[in-house]
Amino acid sequence: MILTGPCAEFISIRNKHDSHSIGFVPTMGALHEGHLSLVRKSTEENDITVVSIFVNPAQFNDPEDLIKYPRTLDADLKMLEEVLGDKDIVFIPKADDIFSEERDLNVNLGHLDNIMEGEHRKGHFPGVIKIVNILFDLVKPGRAYFGQKDFQQLAVIREMIKQTKQQVSVISCPVIREPNGLAMSSRNSRLDPHTRKMAGIIYASLKKYREPASSKTIDIIRDEIVSEINKTKVLRVEYFEIVDELSFIPLKTRSEIMPGHRYYACIAAFAGDIRLIDNTMFSFSITKG
Ligand code: AMP
Repeated sequence: MILTGPCAEFISIRNKHDSHSIGFVPTMGALHEGHLSLVRKSTEENDITVVSIFVNPAQFNDPEDLIKYPRTLDADLKMLEEVLGDKDIVFIPKADDIFSEERDLNVNLGHLDNIMEGEHRKGHFPGVIKIVNILFDLVKPGRAYFGQKDFQQLAVIREMIKQTKQQVSVISCPVIREPNGLAMSSRNSRLDPHTRKMAGIIYASLKKYREPASSKTIDIIRDEIVSEINKTKVLRVEYFEIVDELSFIPLKTRSEIMPGHRYYACIAAFAGDIRLIDNTMFSFSITKG
């Protein structure tokens, strides 16, 4: 079922399903296999899946990026038709309807909003949680599905749920990649073929250092990865950090590595005005440096 009307219409249909388990996949459309992997998982685990398509203006710190964001509704609906069942819902709200549901959201993201994506995209995460919070209130899902591609976003959503005490389980789903390793993203369709091919180096360079065999210092790992990617000439790294999975504190030296903790290398790079992000888990053998 495709719902494009006011939120009240969605709510009345949603309320008929109180006895069913509801899985929710929020998206901004321009769907690809990454999104579909979340949708498939939700359909496997829930009676009803709700997929929302809403290009959230509140999360774009760059107005040009919002204008250029790909919009492919017809193709999206065709893809969803293949994976959704009769009872599932595609919810395509209008911005005015969503913003009319807005209320005060008392969430302090603290450090999470000051590093990496938070530092480089001011206002992005407050914009994300503003809308996801409204959508959670409308959909009332038992489970919500998010991709590990947006690794920091996952932590932000978990923090919002913790502080607002919403009853939603967050299910994190693995990154789906193009054949050359580039993490699938709606923005990839804006890359020219040469840049799209070269962009495979982002994940290839992360992979090179993620096994315990590498005993290089954090600074050397960063320098080597950044210079390998920047050497392509078509890509420019914005940041590279290796952060503790839970605290999101960046590692400065290997001596800060704590046994039993997990670390993720996170990267953002520009191809012209197109911003790409990726991450992967790093396993460290504990040595000084
Ligand atoms: P977006 O439409 O970009 O807001 O993404 C909607 C959801 O799909 C988010 O939870 C993303 O993390 C997830 N997603 C986007 N790309 C991928 C990917 N390549 N693999 C897995 N999940 C993804």
